[in-house]
Amino acid sequence: MTVHIVGGGLAGLSAALELAEAGRPVTLYEAGPACGGRARSYEDRQLGCRLDNGNHLLLSANRTVFDFLDRIGARDTLVGPGAPIFPFHDLEAGQGWTVSLSRGRVPWWVLDRRRRVPGMRLRELGALLRLLRAGPETTIADCMAPGALAERLMIPLAVSVLNTRPEEASARLMGNVMRESMARGGAACVPWFPRDGLSESLVDPALARLRALGATIRTGCRVTSLGMADGRVDRLTLPGGDASVGADDQVILAVPAQGVRELAGAALPDLRVPDRFESILNLHYRVDVLDRLTGDLARARFVGVVGGVAEWVFAKPGILSVTVSAANHLADRSQDELAATVWGEVRAVVSPWLAGGVPLPEAPPPCRVVREKRATFAATPAQDRLRPECRTAVPNLLLAGDWVANGLPATIEGAMRSGLAAARILLSDRAAPAAARRRGSGRRNPPPSLTRASAG
Ligand SMILES: Cc1cc2nc3c(=O)[nH]c(=O)nc-3n(C[C@H](O)[C@H](O)[C@H](O)COP(=O)(O)OP(=O)(O)OC[C@H]3O[C@@H](n4cnc5c(N)ncnc54)[C@H](O)[C@@H]3O)c2cc1C
Repeated sequence: MTVHIVGGGLAGLSAALELAEAGRPVTLYEAGPACGGRARSYEDRQLGCRLDNGNHLLLSANRTVFDFLDRIGARDTLVGPGAPIFPFHDLEAGQGWTVSLSRGRVPWWVLDRRRRVPGMRLRELGALLRLLRAGPETTIADCMAPGALAERLMIPLAVSVLNTRPEEASARLMGNVMRESMARGGAACVPWFPRDGLSESLVDPALARLRALGATIRTGCRVTSLGMADGRVDRLTLPGGDASVGADDQVILAVPAQGVRELAGAALPDLRVPDRFESILNLHYRVDVLDRLTGDLARARFVGVVGGVAEWVFAKPGILSVTVSAANHLADRSQDELAATVWGEVRAVVSPWLAGGVPLPEAPPPCRVVREKRATFAATPAQDRLRPECRTAVPNLLLAGDWVANGLPATIEGAMRSGLAAARILLSDRAAPAAARRRGSGRRNPPPSLTRASAG
């Protein structure tokens, strides 16, 4: 009857919430000292403040995330411009602009020079259709025609959404994201991010709700293997002794892709999972400019950067924070060198938006560089094919995580959908035999699982 969830990232938390709200006993095992996984906040001693491991941007299209936030009472912990606007700055051209989408489905914004990407030609819009219609082997680069729309909007967006260089990245995954966002109009593209921190928005309120529902949360508790008997998982090996998995119990493995083979190798010897990863760099500078920002940067609190190492700069209380996606190619660069180079770019981008015309100082302020080496699986067509379904050959074992097949790249939305899908399979599996017995037939309801096709 108990569901044992291994992994306290957002996939595990989303599964736990769904099950606990349905009245199922849940025990969640998290290896780290706190839950949140790749989306977490922590106290940084070097900078003397709380930081997110990395900046995370959400879109209003992320319906599973917003539903989760509503269920844990934390929707009002997000901030954003409240409108589908995306300020950008081109370092080489020394030019800034704001892409401002129309709220409705008809993209009037592309006809208005003040709202679209400067220098773009209307015939470049064919790239958007090619992305929406892309086949499984097509890359982002295959869909793009040279021009301002590609260089100043679509490639920067694709690199941050897919965390993979355009020459390799799957156009179909990007097309799926666009179908749920841009293709639905600006109302689905309003950007949001946590006001105080990822944990404050997504993790701590979820844990409070889970505890109130009676779930058991065991942090600092790494599961080292799954014990099998009669083709089912019958125990979890933990440092302090095994946890037994009863005959009616189920297990959801919600660990990252790189850990799953080690844990589930004996139970699922044929399991194939993504095995190439891309890193993300975040550089957090200790400087407070929030009160001095003007214009669209004051509204959005973030700006996209074209033509530099930096890709997005976020203005947070006491911090200017920079994201660099698909950062494997920067693995050899020293932290000091990166901090100095990127600060030069931040100065150029942010200074024009500061009230009073006083630019940011030339010398970099104290900086923390956070390198998430395996931030996400590489979103290539070949890696996408390796993503398994939630269900496994072992009847009481399911998989969840941003790497499980869900039609989306590795995102919070994808992670939460996979957790939800796993939970709903368990709930429907349990309900179906009882309902069938009541109806006197053996027919089962199809589980609401997510597959590549359904999410696309
Ligand atoms: C720097 C960065 C920036 C990002 N930016 C964005 C963004 O802007 N927007 C967006 O939507 N997504 C973004 N993402 C992706 C997003 O963070 C992930 O897709 C999501 O958090 C993955 O959640 P998960 O639960 O699948 O995996 P994880 O978060 O990795 O959770 C797995 C959990 O399992 C635990 N665990 C592992 N092994 C064991 C074990 N043996 N026993 C017990 N516990 C175990 C881990 O400690 C971890 O807490 C970003 C990711 C990074 C790293």
